[in-house]
Parts: sequence; C-alpha cells; structure tokens
Amino acid sequence: MERINVTKAFLPPIEEYQALVAQIWQNGWLTNDGPLLLKLEEALRGKLENDRILFVGNGTVALQLAIKVLELSGEIITTPFSYCATTTSILWENCTPVFTDINAHDFNLNAELIEAAITPKTTAILATHVYGRPCDVERIAEIAKKHNLKVIYDGAHAFGATLNGISVLNFGDISTCSFHATKVFHTTEGGCITCNNDDLLLQLRRARSFGHVNDDYYRVGINGKNSEFHAAMGLANLPHLESIIANRKKTSELYDETLNWEKLFKPFTKFENFEYNYAYYPVVFKDETTILQVIKELNAVNIYPRRYFYPALNQLPYLENSQACPVSEKIAQNVLSLPLSHDTSEETVRRVVEIINANL
Ligand SMILES: *Cc1c(COP(=O)(O)O)cnc(C)c1O
Repeated sequence: MERINVTKAFLPPIEEYQALVAQIWQNGWLTNDGPLLLKLEEALRGKLENDRILFVGNGTVALQLAIKVLELSGEIITTPFSYCATTTSILWENCTPVFTDINAHDFNLNAELIEAAITPKTTAILATHVYGRPCDVERIAEIAKKHNLKVIYDGAHAFGATLNGISVLNFGDISTCSFHATKVFHTTEGGCITCNNDDLLLQLRRARSFGHVNDDYYRVGINGKNSEFHAAMGLANLPHLESIIANRKKTSELYDETLNWEKLFKPFTKFENFEYNYAYYPVVFKDETTILQVIKELNAVNIYPRRYFYPALNQLPYLENSQACPVSEKIAQNVLSLPLSHDTSEETVRRVVEIINANL
C-alpha cells in the first residue's frame, strides 16, 4: 500500500522545470539576484499586489531578518500555537517570547489578551496566520499603534489566501512566508518577506545579503539569499497554484461532508470576505486517547496524518520562562492535520474518514 503522508509536495511537469533550468545554463548565473530570481520576485509582486517583496532562503530566516531589521529587543508577545520556528526565531535574536493564548475558533492569537501582557519591555507582537486564516489584523494594528509596538506576521501558511481582496501577507510592519516543499506554494526551500515601507525594504535587502553591496558595507547582515534553481522551481510552480488550491478545496469539501461533526471540531474564520488557500485540514478530537487511537489505526494502513501543531510552544522544553495558555495547550493536544495535497484521492479521504468516524 502506498504511503500517504499529511501532505505531498507538488512537482510541476518536469519539462517546465527543465526549460527554466536550461536558462540557468545559458545565463551562467546561479545565485545573487540572478535573472530568474528577479523574474520570480516580479511575479510575486503581481500575485500579492505588493511592490515590497523579497525572495529569501526560507521562512525561518525571513522571521530572523524581520526581527533584526526592526531592531527588536526585550519582550515580544507571541502565539503559543504555531510551528516552533516562530518562537525560536525570537529566542535566536535574543528576545524573550511572551505567550498569550489563542482564540478557540480560529486558533490565532487572541487579540483581546494582548494588552494585559504588555510591559515596558514589550517591543513587538509576532503572530501567525494559523493554517492560512488571518489574525484579527485590524484589532492588532490598533493595539500596536496605541502602545507603539511593531507587528510581524508569520504568514508561512498564508500564500494564496486573501482578506477583503488583499493578500493575507500584506499586513503588519513585516510579513513572512515559507515556500518550503510542504507548503501550498513552494520553491523546494524558500520564503519571502513583505514590508510596509521603503526603508524597511532597503534594510531587509541589505541584511539578506551580508549587509553589503560590492565594497560598501552598510550594516550587519546574514546570508538570507536564495538561488536560481529555487527561483526556477517557484516559476514552474506558480502557474499551477490555482489548480493546486482548487484540488485542495475539493478534498477539503469531501472531508467536510463526511466527517462526523457531532464529535469533532474544525477551526473557522469569522471574516466574511475571506478566500482560503486550503493549506491544511485540521480536526480537533475530544481527548488525547481518541487522537492516539486514530493515529494508530491510520498508521496501520500506511496513512500518516500529523499532530500539527504539537506541542503548544509555551511548553517547549528549552524555555526559561513561560506563561500558561490553556486554550492552546488543549487544542495542541487534540488536533490532527489530515492528509491534504493537490492529489489526495477520494479513496484516501474515505479511508481516513471511516477510521475516524468509527473511533469517536
Ligand atoms: C513552515 C513554517 C515555518 C518555517 O518555514 P521554513 O521555510 O521551513 O523555514 C515557520 N512558521 C510556520 C508557521 C511554518 O508553518
């Protein structure tokens, strides 16, 4: 039996990638702002309708660059429900994560809890658009303005999702995205950064490439660049994005129709004018015993869903201090992301649903 994972990377028709790779041979240019990278950035500017965008090495270095160029220090209020890179990038930049709990409906940072966590040391809010559904961006902007805080969004899941017709990656001072192979749109490894002013863009551009341009050394930088081969994968994949999302939508709708919702819960957004990218299909079970039993039975038929996110980040073992976040801890314990990709078959969905419904 073929192994089915929580997701499967999309691969474009090989000729389409090869045609782009042939251009790399012709250009003799492999990295450092090559022609394919510039072309991908151009395409991303169009797709996200944002002029300020940079293609970077991955979604984690994107977060680190964001924290660095905003010159953050002290405490950053952040979400306990995300991938560990959201928290570790804060720690990596020698800042302290302060966790506030999440909403029970969309699993995003609960904006109403932020103000109580602000101290004189707070410099920013770093929130994740969990599973691609947007945070309460207006409320968070209001709080940030009132308390003079910066806002970074980890939009690793949000490529292709829009709120009021605007890309979800266009909020906050800086938004980051991941183009890792497991994401809806990928460049094998990769990511991007968007920001809301030209000075930030300049600082990000410089910091991405060692902080210098030729012999002019402007600032401390790092290697956050990406290559022509990764840009080629992005250029090959981008034209397929719509059909990838359409297939994921179809699969998601089949789960919607067949899972037993009397015994399960799934996150939802309260925003009306929202277009989803169908990045994940998480369901929440009533308790951990059930989720572990379901995982065991699915694994027995070679199906590997993923506890995502688990554990809650406020419970990471290497934190010196942390805050209790009961909503997040409970969801992290009981949530399972089901198989979802551009070519998840109906047969897979039916097998997954049958096992889940029989165990509730
Ligand atoms: C995937 C992911 C990242 C990390 O992105 P990479 O490109 O793998 O470095 C960060 N945050 C979240 C929420 C993610 O899902």
